[in-house]
Amino acid sequence: MDLYEYQGKELFRRVGIPVSDGRLATSPSEAREAATELGSPVVVKAQVLTGGRGKAGGIKLASSPEEAESHAREILGLDIRGHVVHRLWVEKASDIAREYYLSLTFDRGARRPLFMFTTEGGVDIEEVAATKPEALVRLHVDPLEGFHPWQARRLVYGAGVTDPSEQKQVAAVVGKLFEAFTRFDAMLCEINPLIVTPDGEVRALDSKFTVDDNALFRHPDVAAMRDVTAADPLEALAREKGVTYVKLDGRVGVLGNGAGLTMSTVDVVTFVGGAPANFCDLGGGGDAQGVVDALDVIIRDPQVSAIFFNIFGGITRCDEVARGILQALGQMRLELPIVVRLDGTNAEEGRAILAEAAPANLHVEPTMLDAARRAVELAT
Ligand code: GDP
Ligand code: MN
Repeated sequence: MDLYEYQGKELFRRVGIPVSDGRLATSPSEAREAATELGSPVVVKAQVLTGGRGKAGGIKLASSPEEAESHAREILGLDIRGHVVHRLWVEKASDIAREYYLSLTFDRGARRPLFMFTTEGGVDIEEVAATKPEALVRLHVDPLEGFHPWQARRLVYGAGVTDPSEQKQVAAVVGKLFEAFTRFDAMLCEINPLIVTPDGEVRALDSKFTVDDNALFRHPDVAAMRDVTAADPLEALAREKGVTYVKLDGRVGVLGNGAGLTMSTVDVVTFVGGAPANFCDLGGGGDAQGVVDALDVIIRDPQVSAIFFNIFGGITRCDEVARGILQALGQMRLELPIVVRLDGTNAEEGRAILAEAAPANLHVEPTMLDAARRAVELAT
């Protein structure tokens, strides 16, 4: 789950990373009030779950509450790379002497968290990595040993920060970022820019914070930060029903059991020249209610014109799934063509059950490839 800048900054604040004082605003008048309370100048910042807001006109300095109001009017409703701005973060403007970059993420190859730090912040970090790789200092943290303060010093010296007070402050932020990362089960914590003010104060001016969805149950306060209106409406419905669903943009609705098989199904549909409309994983079970819930989400996508139901019976038995499918079809009167491929435990029985009932829109295919071809054909 990605957090908005202001939410990430709230978590930064909780672990002691310095951030500017600010207020959330959802209307121009609220932005003006926020600026009045905070004292000008302020910076009015679009809150969207994407980066590059500055370049897109989503971040503007205001020298008075009136100006904050007029900036807010311009930024609200702005479309930044497909994300419409509904919220603004108004914060006390900072004077900037230098902009650094600091992040902590997982290096899956090394199976360790990885810090990256450079004094060339503010801009696109990919650009720094491409044009000035020596400026980007990388440091892995051993998950068993945990974080040690010397590692922060190594980052800071490695990047060439020379002022002792600055070294101390940045090192402190590094340690606290590690604390935030572990305490909130983050997958990414990024500060770009981490600024130094002309008075030599170090502060996080931006935040990119991604929390592991699978750990949200441990952090109800963070889970509550989710903006349900920002999610795809179908994905939100799926979440409510407990269905694992990701919207894609083709015409073949995909339903499988198990994430691996479902991903392979998406691949096979693409391989035979089709385009999957979604990824939908039924999980381990194949009971009628699970099938109904999944189908209900899939068919709400108006682009779906055929469904490919791919089941491999392991612990789940194919005969049970077959009954589940029939029961689901009985309950929901579905007219779209459904191609079913059943294999694994009790596949024979499962196919026999479907063949006997033989609903007109149900097509049983023996292999994954045949089924994918059939589904793609029926979807066009
Ligand atoms: P992003 O474009 O989505 O990464 O948004 P940021 O929050 O990083 O802001 C983009 C840029 O706006 C920063 O790199 C700063 O140069 C500038 N900016 C943001 N806040 C302030 C501020 O308080 N004062 C000044 N002078 N510039 C700011
Ligand atoms: Mn930024």
